[in-house]
Amino acid sequence: MSTASASAQVKPTPPGYPSSWEFDGLLTTGGAVHVRPIEPDDVTLLAAFYANLTPGTIRSRYAGTQAAPSTEEVSHATEVDYRSRMAFVAIVSEELVALASYDRLSPDERGAEVAFLVADAYQHHGLATLLFESLVAYARTMGIDRFVADVLADNTDMLGVFGAIGLHSTQVNDNATIRVEIDLRPTPEYRASCDQREAVAEAASVAAILRPRSIAVVGAGRHRGSVGHEVVRSLLAGDFSGTVYPVNLTARAISGAPAFSSLSSVPEQVDLAIVAVPAAGVLEVVKEAAASKVRAVTVITAGFAETGEGGAEVETELLGIARRNGMRIVGPNCLGLVNTDPEIRMNGTFTGLDPLAGKLALVSQSGAVGIILAEQASAAGLGLSGFVSVGNKLDVSSNDLLCYFEGDERTSVIALYLESLGNPRKFARIARRVGEHKPIVALKAGRTAAGARGARSHTAAAATPEITVSALLRGAGIIKVDRLEELLDVSAILLASPLPQGRRVALVGNSGGPLILAADACESSGLVVPELGDATKSALEKVLVAAAATANPVDMTADGTAATLEKVFEIVLDDEAIDAVIMVATELLSLSAADARATAARVAEHATKPVIACILGSVPPVGWSGAGTLAEVPTPERVAVALDHVCRYAEWRRRPRPSGERSADRIDNATVREIVAAKLRTSEEGGWLELEEAARLLEACGLPVLATRAASTAEEAASVAESVGLPVVLKARAGDLVHKSDVGGVIVGLDSLEAVREAFETMSSRLGAQMGGAVIQPMAQPGVEAIVGLASDPVFGPVVMVGLGGVMTDLLGDRAFAVPPLDPGAADAMIASLRAAPLLSGYRGTPLVDREALVEIVERVARIAEQVPELIELDLNPIIVSAAGAFAVDCKARLAPRPAGPGPLFRALRSR
Ligand code: ADP
Ligand code: MG
Repeated sequence: MSTASASAQVKPTPPGYPSSWEFDGLLTTGGAVHVRPIEPDDVTLLAAFYANLTPGTIRSRYAGTQAAPSTEEVSHATEVDYRSRMAFVAIVSEELVALASYDRLSPDERGAEVAFLVADAYQHHGLATLLFESLVAYARTMGIDRFVADVLADNTDMLGVFGAIGLHSTQVNDNATIRVEIDLRPTPEYRASCDQREAVAEAASVAAILRPRSIAVVGAGRHRGSVGHEVVRSLLAGDFSGTVYPVNLTARAISGAPAFSSLSSVPEQVDLAIVAVPAAGVLEVVKEAAASKVRAVTVITAGFAETGEGGAEVETELLGIARRNGMRIVGPNCLGLVNTDPEIRMNGTFTGLDPLAGKLALVSQSGAVGIILAEQASAAGLGLSGFVSVGNKLDVSSNDLLCYFEGDERTSVIALYLESLGNPRKFARIARRVGEHKPIVALKAGRTAAGARGARSHTAAAATPEITVSALLRGAGIIKVDRLEELLDVSAILLASPLPQGRRVALVGNSGGPLILAADACESSGLVVPELGDATKSALEKVLVAAAATANPVDMTADGTAATLEKVFEIVLDDEAIDAVIMVATELLSLSAADARATAARVAEHATKPVIACILGSVPPVGWSGAGTLAEVPTPERVAVALDHVCRYAEWRRRPRPSGERSADRIDNATVREIVAAKLRTSEEGGWLELEEAARLLEACGLPVLATRAASTAEEAASVAESVGLPVVLKARAGDLVHKSDVGGVIVGLDSLEAVREAFETMSSRLGAQMGGAVIQPMAQPGVEAIVGLASDPVFGPVVMVGLGGVMTDLLGDRAFAVPPLDPGAADAMIASLRAAPLLSGYRGTPLVDREALVEIVERVARIAEQVPELIELDLNPIIVSAAGAFAVDCKARLAPRPAGPGPLFRALRSR
């Protein structure tokens, strides 16, 4: 290792330097850029930056008052305290290309003045906006919620940046300059526009990978069987629309294409380098690619992070090189990529894969599973729009590809095979947006270690990573499947059919047994096979033989021909009480498999409801249609499972959306902030709140908590009890006692002051110091016991839980989970999904209780999870739900400081 790089690694950071705010972002052109807080050492870079600015740029920034900034001004720019003065710089290829800073107006002001300066070559690349978003996020952590900027009236670029940012702003015109004031409090529009900007940059970035004009294949051997050689062959055989440059140290040509001895000797700008050299040589190739300004590399070579720590270190180095040079990386340890767009025709794989062109985008983390899926899709006649094997996901991940395929007109369904989620919260957020118009089907394999949770509450213990991931994916509208075949079955239906309006299925066929199996399969998958109405039945009777069944399933019997089948389809599709039709046909003399398929395909083409074919005994026995207009699934059981997934997705698409304005949040922010700050002052890493503090926090958040007052002596307990009103409950106050009643820390039904005093004494002698004093509560009205909780994981974010029935909840694991934000109706649906839900509706003569009050608590807890990120664990256990409402009688709350840095939803590229 050279001394220069060794010293660069140990370079001390200046005091207060917020290193968690270093990240890589994307320009609108798709190139990567490194963003970090400025450092005093940046003086040299900064001087070079200023020296290269054109007079026009300088005039815009300094309002025409000077020709160039002085040396003092340059060094002043680096003198920040990272609090009231802050600046971010953007670096590409070791050059400083942009600077954005704020200066607090005065120490006690919540406003700051901002300024931006972007190198001429990088203007109109979205850089000012990216730095602006960074400054906004940072300033808010410093308690700044307003930016002001004086902009020259003719600086339309900068005014455009402020105007398009998505925050509330006002402009005051003062002749030559315009004073812009921006309110930094994030709005839904701001979040949406940040996401939009991210998606645009991502799509541009992935275009270098999936729509390259030139591809170099590095490590292209002379002979068949070498990976690089096969990639070249496959690109040539696929008739790639751009140029292919085999790179080989000594060969003159590979597969007839002229070869080059190195990337740097390729005579054209290389968009994509596909790297297949041995692992030991990859680093050098990537360095060379960076030096040659290659836009993206796909590293097929394996032998990196999957082999252990040494491999992971090399990966980190590869990523560093790519990011510093604005380059993207796919892989390593992957299979390559395919784009079937007739304009591109790129088949950059080495396994002889030759997928059909179509509308399904396929992304696989595992190369082997990717091949299986791609081959099965082809065999089934499901055409692909693109295929990306992401391998170790060093840089490009499914998040990036979702953004790309979202805007790809040739793609209508996205199928993912995933083993890990790098940034699950971001993934869910992107998927939620994409899923609104393109379904995403995902098979998530493997368990994800969520790291230590320090889980002490019921909620945190119940919210395992699997449960949380499921809730996260479900809330985002992702169709989560469990088997490979399901991935393709569901895709087949989505590709060929309109979304069903409901779950009512008509089954039609020509033999009884398979139809009955299909009916059972449908019903047990949650679909409905209703009896057909009289009108439909009599219409069917007119076209069918007397022995036929018309009630649903509709059995034409062995007499049914293709012509009969067509009429049956027409009749059942016409029935408004039917949402989808499944044909279960058996190859018989009167109806061949081919005729059944052709008839169903003809009908499906014009149907406004899904028509799914399941042809038993057909040749080939397993397979989907090639026509693309008919979804064909091999067995009735698989049809039922797949159609249920599709119905669920359709329901998600139809779900009610939050109406414009959310009902006013009854959150008393000042009190919440005060409690949080007080706790984090006394213990830096946070911890459990004392009982009455937890109650106060929740009250401030608008949750109905039974009055909870502290008392530190028996006498005090008696006087508090008197003011609360008898009868009361006395409890140990310490927030870190997990099960108070297990250790005698709860004494209920105290109906005299004497009893209160006595209870206090008994409890203190029993518990000693760990009691931490006492709290007094009034007795709650009897009712149904519920639990509502919240657990927040640094990686997966918050998950909300609800359960019913006290101890039985634990015993039966009868709980429902969801990830905020909850859509309207989601909390109600969670409660309805509990097996114990009837307890809330007067089960067997139990008194009616206020179910709606519980629904509101769940909704509120979900909202608090988003608004008070420091609240990482919450257990309202029990909440007593009676006719009088729902009240929490026990609340455990744990706080932790917010993680430093811009957070998982910020549009930063993944880092190591
Ligand atoms: P812990 O869960 O730590 O053991 P709780 O405060 O939940 O302590 O109390 C245990 C049980 O005592 C509750 O599940 C509830 O049945 C009963 N209880 C507690 N507080 C009250 C109250 N204010 N009114 C009526 N019952 C109560
Ligand atoms: Mg409890």
